[in-house]
Amino acid sequence: MRKDIPEKEIKILFAKSGNLCAFPGCGTRLIESETLEDAPAVVGEIAHIVADSRQGPRGNFPLSNEDRQKHPNLILLCRRHHSIIDKQKRTYSVQVLRQMKADHEALVERKLSADSPALKPPIVSEDIHSTLVSVTDLPRVVFSAPCSFSDSEEAEVKNRIKYPEDRFELTPFFIRENRLFAFHALWQEDNPFARVIDCNHVKPIQATEMWSDPENKRRYVTLLNRALYKYTARLGIRFDPEHRRYYFEPEEKGTEREVKYRSMNKKTESRLVVWQPKKKSTGEPKNFWWHLAAKLVFHQFADQQWCLSIRPERRLTKDSLEPLPPEKIGRKVTRLKAKMYNDLYIAEVVFWRDYLSRGEPRFILNFGAQSAVIKVELIKVQVEWAGIPSDNKPFRNQVYAEDLFTFAALQQARAGEEIEWEEFEYEAEGEEAEE
Ligand SMILES: [Zn+2]
Repeated sequence: MRKDIPEKEIKILFAKSGNLCAFPGCGTRLIESETLEDAPAVVGEIAHIVADSRQGPRGNFPLSNEDRQKHPNLILLCRRHHSIIDKQKRTYSVQVLRQMKADHEALVERKLSADSPALKPPIVSEDIHSTLVSVTDLPRVVFSAPCSFSDSEEAEVKNRIKYPEDRFELTPFFIRENRLFAFHALWQEDNPFARVIDCNHVKPIQATEMWSDPENKRRYVTLLNRALYKYTARLGIRFDPEHRRYYFEPEEKGTEREVKYRSMNKKTESRLVVWQPKKKSTGEPKNFWWHLAAKLVFHQFADQQWCLSIRPERRLTKDSLEPLPPEKIGRKVTRLKAKMYNDLYIAEVVFWRDYLSRGEPRFILNFGAQSAVIKVELIKVQVEWAGIPSDNKPFRNQVYAEDLFTFAALQQARAGEEIEWEEFEYEAEGEEAEE
C-alpha cells in the first residue's frame, strides 16, 4: 500500500537539496528553468532511503511507516543516480545514504551561508573524546630465566605458581625456548615462579629495548594482555580468544546479569550486561541473547607513550552461553552498529572504563615490585569547527576524586622502581661477564 509523501516534506527536501542531485560529485540540476515554450520541468527524483514498503530497497530497516514519508528519510537524486542506489542496495545502505544526504545538505548550507556572511555559524572550540585511556606507568624490565618446562607446558607451570598473598597481584608469564618471561623479579628466591625456574641465571631486558623490536614488542604486549585477562576475570569478565574480545557472561545459564558501576553523571548506576531482548509487539523473548563486549588493546603511540583503546562490541549467544552461528549474527550486529551513534558509543566506552577501574581514577595491574597503571580519563583532543547552535550537549569527562586510598595505591605501585632495578642490573652485568 503506497502512501503519498506530504507536500510539506517535499518542499523541505527540495529547499535543503539546493536543486542539485545529492550523489557525490554529480551536481545535476533538478529543476530545469522554463523555456520560451515550456514551464520549468522537474527532472529530479525523490528516493526513499528506507523504502516506503518493506519489500522495497532497504525496506526492512526498522523505521515507522510515517517516518518513511518524511524528509529525513528522503534524498533528492537525478534519475540515473536514483536507479543506481536502488539496484546496488547493499553498497548504498541506509547508513551510506544517510551520510550522503547529510554531506550534501551541509554542502548546500555552507554554500548558502558563504553567500550571506550574516548567516555564517560561529566557530566554536570543542573537546572531542577519544576511546583511548592513558597508560601512565609500565614495567621497565622483563625478566627471563631458564625453565624446567617447555613452551607447550604453560598449564603445568600454572599449577606450580606460588600465588602471591596480595590477591591483586597478577602473575602473567610465557615460555619461549625453555625460558620463562615475566614482569616479576625472578632472581628473588620467593618469586611466584621460583619452583619452576633457575633463579641464578636470570636475564633482565629493558622494556624500551623490547619495544624497539617487533617480535619482542609482541612478547611484551603478550605479558600485558595476559595480565589484563587475569584482572578482568576477577571482575567477572571473560575473554573470547576467537574474536579477541572481552565479554560478560551470566552467573547462571539463562539468567540476565546486571552490574553496578559509576556513570558519568551519577554516583552509581546499574546496567544489564547480559540480557535476552523481547519482541516489542508481544513482549515475548527473542531467541538470542546480547552480551556487552569490548576489545581492549594496548597501543604504543610514541617512544615512551602507551594507551589502552576501548572499543565496544556485542557478543550474541543462543542461550546466554553458546555463541550464535555466524550466519545468524551478521544482520543483527549491522543493525546495532547503525543505531550506535556517538552518544551510545561513548556511553559504552565510559561504562567499560568505569567498570574496569571500579570507579577509581585509575586501575593498576600489579606485578609485585613493578606495575602497569592505567589512568581512565579518556584522552581528548581540541578541535575548532563551525558550531551547530542547538547542539550544545557537551560530554563531561568524569573527574575522579583522588582520595587517600587511591593515592596510596598509586604510590605503592610506583615504589621501589628506582632502587631495586639499579641494584639488580649491576648484579646481572657481573653475571654476564662470567659467561
Ligand atoms: Zn545524479
